[in-house]
Amino acid sequence: MFVSNIRHALNVKRADDFAQWYQEVISAADLAEESGVRGCMVIKPWGYGIWERIQRLLDDRIKNTGHDNCYFPIFIPLANFEREAEHVDGFAKEMAVVTHHRLIQDQKGKLVPDPAAKLEEPLVVRPTSETIIGDAMARWVQSWRDLPLKTNQWANVVRWEMRTRMFLRTSEFLWQEGHTAHADAAEAKEHTLRMLEVYRACAEEDLAMPVIAGEKPENERFPGAVETWSIEAMMQDGKALQAGTSHYLGTNFAEASGIRYQDPEGSQQLCHTTSWGVSTRMIGGVIMTHGDDDGLRVPPTIAPRQVVILPMLRGKEGDDALIEYCQSLHDQLAKQSAFGERLRVLLDTRPGKAAAKRWDYVRKGAPVIIEVGGRDMDNDVVSLLRRDQMWAENGKPDFQTPTREEAANGMQELLYAIQANLFQQAKERRDANIRTDITDIEGLKEHFADTAVHPGWVQVAWSKPTGADLDAVVETLKDMKLTVRNVPMDDTPTTGACIFTGAPAVERIYVAKAY
Ligand code: AMP
Repeated sequence: MFVSNIRHALNVKRADDFAQWYQEVISAADLAEESGVRGCMVIKPWGYGIWERIQRLLDDRIKNTGHDNCYFPIFIPLANFEREAEHVDGFAKEMAVVTHHRLIQDQKGKLVPDPAAKLEEPLVVRPTSETIIGDAMARWVQSWRDLPLKTNQWANVVRWEMRTRMFLRTSEFLWQEGHTAHADAAEAKEHTLRMLEVYRACAEEDLAMPVIAGEKPENERFPGAVETWSIEAMMQDGKALQAGTSHYLGTNFAEASGIRYQDPEGSQQLCHTTSWGVSTRMIGGVIMTHGDDDGLRVPPTIAPRQVVILPMLRGKEGDDALIEYCQSLHDQLAKQSAFGERLRVLLDTRPGKAAAKRWDYVRKGAPVIIEVGGRDMDNDVVSLLRRDQMWAENGKPDFQTPTREEAANGMQELLYAIQANLFQQAKERRDANIRTDITDIEGLKEHFADTAVHPGWVQVAWSKPTGADLDAVVETLKDMKLTVRNVPMDDTPTTGACIFTGAPAVERIYVAKAY
């Protein structure tokens, strides 16, 4: 699948060691670095620029579905968690807790928490904010006229993860968490799915990352949720990445926090609430969906710079004229727009060889790289490289040489074409790696044991077991390092027998290795 005879810009190829390749992309594209604090990362400008793009695009979608942003405290009183039993059970193992508010020096001069400054009630650093937002909702909702209440916050959260991986699973991560309260179950469920659809659109249209939207099985539900829905993306190694989740919380959190309203008849009712979140994990998804053996390829919608112009400076007289020429191309492009926004163009006039700079931006995955030398300027042309299809058949970078005017006039269309191409490539790869023809456990075992084939995902029929029966299925899958990803929304009626229990199947599920 990744075969080629070209000498690539990274040391590790995807086919040789995907995990190592992933790490190399993060450093070669200058996205982030380890911080020295376990599981926490420093997000560098190119990585943070991508996050800012995702934030802006998703924030528009969230606002357009009627939500307003708020901000809630990072510290949550421990007692808040105790109100919802399942919720505390789910998060207890990974909570960071603040117990003191002052340091003093001990006899050896070492800084230690001051025993006299012990908090009466420990504070939890939020792993998610249902409980504290629930308190606010209880204050804000009085009557049926206050509903639905639709809030969102952009924040950092902390979950003390045991096995961390940059972007995919970090102890501190950035995310948005939406929280809504509704008058009844039907409306809250409908909203849960509406936000799942927002995530699907964001993943597919903004990140060019195809996803399957569906419901999580009971064992994968968010602690305290009645229903958990997810979008799942297939990475280039065939593993699944849960890229976002939307939860219908029933009245569980409303009961815990006392979120009640007076209905039109004057009686008190419990609200039905939802919550939903996507995080910086999305960036990991972008890397593993679009990256290649030369580094990252960023979809134009979320690229911090969509076009990078590199004048081939020579430290000589002609440089000023060349920079001027490039500046005018820059200005021409920067006036244009695509995807509803001004183009983001960078003219890089730092000293250094243009070829070396080109490889920097190749590794970063800037969608379009334009090089301009003295001779190009004289002929009024530019050398333009599309990052999404950068190699010619002769094994050399496939530079096109439009006139400056053509480059400027065609840029919008080119960016749309790159965006579409990245999505198409990812979708074709995903679809080609889903098997639907496996009907027994042996077949499943054989498929996933065969390391010569791309493992991808398998769609199988099941009887939707619950309780102990579901536990047994989970164990069977665990032995093969597999999990149920979700029950796709567009599922067609299923016939035949459940691959696990032999009972009549009621739906089809995706089974895969996952991040
Ligand atoms: P949850 O609140 O558990 O449903 O999480 C919401 C979303 O945040 C998940 O769907 C993931 O995409 C993401 N997420 C969860 N845990 C982490 C983590 N440790 N690091 C990065 N992203 C995470």
